[in-house]
Amino acid sequence: MQKPIIVIHYGEIALKGKNRALFERRLQQNIRRALKNIEYKANLQRVSGRFILSLNDSARHNLPRERILQRLREIPGITYFGVGFEVNNSLDDIIEGVISLSKDLPAGSFKVDTRRSDKTFHLSSPEVNRRVGQAVVDRFGLPVNLNDPDSVIRIEIAYTGVYIFCARYQGIGGLPVGVSGRVLSLISAGFDSPVASYLMMKRGARVYFAHFHSAPYVSRNSIEQVHSLVQRLSDFQEESICYMTPIAGIQKKLIAIAPPAYRVLLYRRVMIHLAERIAKRHKCEALVTGESLGQVSSQTLRNIGVVDESASMPILRPLVGMDKEEIISLSRSIGTETISAEPYDDCCSFLMPRQAETWGTIEEVKEIEAKLECSDEYEDAMKQTEKLVIPNRYTADATINH
Ligand code: ATP
Ligand code: MG
Repeated sequence: MQKPIIVIHYGEIALKGKNRALFERRLQQNIRRALKNIEYKANLQRVSGRFILSLNDSARHNLPRERILQRLREIPGITYFGVGFEVNNSLDDIIEGVISLSKDLPAGSFKVDTRRSDKTFHLSSPEVNRRVGQAVVDRFGLPVNLNDPDSVIRIEIAYTGVYIFCARYQGIGGLPVGVSGRVLSLISAGFDSPVASYLMMKRGARVYFAHFHSAPYVSRNSIEQVHSLVQRLSDFQEESICYMTPIAGIQKKLIAIAPPAYRVLLYRRVMIHLAERIAKRHKCEALVTGESLGQVSSQTLRNIGVVDESASMPILRPLVGMDKEEIISLSRSIGTETISAEPYDDCCSFLMPRQAETWGTIEEVKEIEAKLECSDEYEDAMKQTEKLVIPNRYTADATINH
């Protein structure tokens, strides 16, 4: 028997003590969801510290298999996975399976790495390594290199079955989305906030989104761009909810009353206020921004303090210690860079050129806020908020195809 499978490993989860079962269940659900539009055979089994995904005949062929690999690369919680076979629990079957797999090995050295959790199997791991390795040498003449091989053939002998695989693909690691609760990310069309949102997903948070815009006074292109960004980010959590909130009414009032140097700070506090209202609808427990310390004048410690003071929930800033170059390079690797690089109308620029010396104490800012009285404008903004449910590209593709 040689049943085509993908062996999926997860790392950090194994360390999480009593939460482990919860995490495994969540990861299993997330994998199932991610693959639901791919014809592969609905069999995903949890087997002591790993998942075994059984593939049917159609998934053996390249196209669906490539799609499966592509999706697995983007599921937070998976550390690595490999493509191979499940074989019968005998040395002959293991050797036969490894020989089939080795046909696709690149030229170069190899080693066999066996893990035996089924202690009733009659050979020790080193003995299996030796015998299987010898069979590959005899058949293909490849050199063995135990320290720095070009390929590793893995054999996992578990009570539930024997799994062999060689190609090893890197996952993104982290924790499965959903195990760390919910957050609301303030997302703009720039580089930073999409990366911040991704990092939160990677730590197991389900991310909701809020974008503030100045349409109809400026074009809707920031809205379209945020829509594309969220769609891309949904690859990591399947589906996202994004709120688009117009704030030009509040901005106008702010401009009439607030001295220029305070506007950006006041405006940030307005965003936090509205974001919290949205966050509460979905039981989000924290807000997320793409701020990084000192990147622009509004992101100094003092200003961060003034913004935080207006919030009743924690504001998480996963990029706080990162350089712009690091952030952009991460955005490239998650596929948001090209979208963020498009020009867009930032609501910050609407009647509010960025102030060089944005600065203010909490007392001063509160004094101005007391004169502002925006409750009607807040209500209007919430009433005019659009709620979008944004699936990932794969689900979107599948809908179009049907
Ligand atoms: P980004 O690249 O994310 O736009 P930035 O370097 O341009 O960040 P700012 O414009 O100062 O920095 O914004 C800081 C953070 O405030 C953003 O990372 C984002 O979380 C939030 N933010 C800014 N503009 C908006 C907006 N229009 N809607 C929602 N959130 C916003
Ligand atoms: Mg910005």
